Amino acid sequence: RGSIVLDVRVVTIADEYILLLADDQTEIVRAQSIRNDFVANVSHELKTPVGAISLLSEAIEDAAADQEAVRHFAASLHRESARLSALVQDIIELSRLQGTDVVAEGTAVDMNRAVHEAVDRSRLAAESKNISIKFGGSVRTPVFGDPDMLVTAVRNLIDNAVRYSPEDTRVGVGLRERGGMVQVTVTDQGPGISEAEQDRIFERFYRVDSARSRQTGGTGLGLSIVKHVMAQHGGEVSVWSQPGRGSTFTLLLPPMDDPEEHQDPVPAGG
Ligand code: ADP
Repeated sequence: RGSIVLDVRVVTIADEYILLLADDQTEIVRAQSIRNDFVANVSHELKTPVGAISLLSEAIEDAAADQEAVRHFAASLHRESARLSALVQDIIELSRLQGTDVVAEGTAVDMNRAVHEAVDRSRLAAESKNISIKFGGSVRTPVFGDPDMLVTAVRNLIDNAVRYSPEDTRVGVGLRERGGMVQVTVTDQGPGISEAEQDRIFERFYRVDSARSRQTGGTGLGLSIVKHVMAQHGGEVSVWSQPGRGSTFTLLLPPMDDPEEHQDPVPAGG
C-alpha cells in the first residue's frame, strides 16, 4: 500500500549534465494487475463448467445403452451448459461496462417502466419458490441513461433476493424520489449478510457461499455488474443487512434534469 512504480531513465547531456527522467507508472501497473486478476479469475471460473461438459458428454457416449443413465447425464449437461452460458453473458456484460462512456448515447429512462420490467422478468424464478414480489411506489422524473442496463441492474438485485431467500417469503421492491434522487430498493427476508461480507460482495466473483451461489445459478458477477451500471449513470448501490434479518439493496440515481449531473466535461487543456 502506498508504493509507486517509476520508470526512470538517465540521460547525459554533453558529458556535463545528467538528466533524470522519472515516469510514474503506478496507475498503469495497477490497471494491468487488475486486468491480470480478472483474466485469471475468468479462466478459473470457465474451466469448471467446460470441464464438466466435456466429461458429461463422454459419459453419455459410454452409457449409450443405459437409457436411465443417459437421461441423468443429459440433465446435468443441460445444467452445466446453462451455467456456462450465464457466465459468458455476464463476463461480456461486465467487460462492456468497464469501458469508458458506455452510456454516451443515453435517453430519458422512465424508471417506473424499467422497474416494472425487471419485476416481470424475475417472476418466473420467484413463483418456482412461492416467493411473492410486491412492487410499490412511483417517480415522476426520468433518469438519463441506458434502459436495458438499468433493467439489468434492478433485475440482478431482485434475482439475488429470490435466489438467496427461503421458499414462501416476500420480496419488496420500492421506487420513490428521495433527497433529490431516484431511489430503488429491493428488500428480502433471506439469510442476510454480515458486515464483513458486505464490503466484499460487490467484488467480481466474490461469493459468501460459493456452493450455494453456483447451485442456484449465480455467476458471482451480478453485484459487480450492478455497481458498474450505477457508476456509468452517476449513481450508487448500497446494502443494509444483518444476519438473520434479511437484506435491503438500494440504488440511487440522479434525476435527468439535475443540472449539476449534466454539465459538459471541461475540455482538456483549456
Ligand atoms: P452471485 O451470482 O453469486 O449471486 P452476486 O455478485 O450477485 O453473485 O452476489 C455476490 C454474493 O453476495 C452472492 O454469492 C451471495 O453470497 C451474496 N448475496 C447477494 N445478494 C444477496 C441477498 N439478497 N441475500 C443474501 N446474500 C446475498
